[in-house]
Amino acid sequence: MTQPLAVDVIVLGMGPGGEVAAARLLAAGKRVAVVERELIGGECAYWACIPSKTLLRPPEAKSEATRAAGVATPRLDWPQVAAYRDWMTRHLDDRAQVRSYQQKGALVVRGSQPRRAARLAELGLADLGAYLRARHVAQGWSVRRMRAELGVSRRWLVGELARLRLRS
Ligand SMILES: Cc1cc2nc3c(=O)[nH]c(=O)nc-3n(C[C@H](O)[C@H](O)[C@H](O)COP(=O)(O)OP(=O)(O)OC[C@H]3O[C@@H](n4cnc5c(N)ncnc54)[C@H](O)[C@@H]3O)c2cc1C
Repeated sequence: MTQPLAVDVIVLGMGPGGEVAAARLLAAGKRVAVVERELIGGECAYWACIPSKTLLRPPEAKSEATRAAGVATPRLDWPQVAAYRDWMTRHLDDRAQVRSYQQKGALVVRGSQPRRAARLAELGLADLGAYLRARHVAQGWSVRRMRAELGVSRRWLVGELARLRLRS
C-alpha cells in the first residue's frame, strides 16, 4: 500500500515553466511532486511552439524554392507533413515524460483541482488508480472514508472508481 510521503514542493502545471522549476528543484535534492491535468510538456510541446513550427517549415521551404533560379518547386505532401507533426508532438503521449520524472524521484500526479492534486501529492500518490485499488481492495474502504482522506466530492470519486472499473 502507498505510504504517505511528504514533499518539499508541489509544482502545479508542467508546461515549460513547471518543467524548469521541477528540474531545478530535483537537481537541488528537493522532494518534488509534479501535478499536471493534461500532458507533461504543456502547451508548447503539444499544441503551440512545436506543431506550429513543424507545420510552417514545409510551405516556407516550398516558397523559398519558388524564388530561387534553377530549382524545381517541391510538392507539399500533407499526410507526410501531418505525420511528422504528430511524431514531433509525441502523438500526444507523455508516458516517457512521466517515467522520466518518476526516475528522477518526483511524484507525478494527474489532477486538475489544485486542492485535490495537492492532497494527492501530500499523500505520496504517484498513481491514483493504484492507490484507490489498494485502499479499496486491501482495506475495503468506503467511498465516505476515501472522500474524507482525499477531500474530494462524491461525484468525482465515484467517477474515478467507475473509470477504474471498481465498485463503490
Ligand atoms: C501557436 C503558438 C506558438 C507558440 N510558439 C512559441 C515559440 O515558438 N517559442 C516560444 O518560446 N513560445 C511559443 N509559444 C508560447 C509558449 O507556448 C508559451 O509561452 C509556453 O507554453 C508557456 O509555458 P507555461 O509553462 O507558462 O504554460 P503552459 O505551457 O500553458 O503550461 C501550463 C500547464 O499547466 C497545466 N495546468 C494549468 N492549470 C492546472 C491545474 N489547476 N492543475 C494541474 N495542471 C494545470 C496545463 O495543463 C499546462 O500543461 C507559442 C504559443 C502559441 C499559442
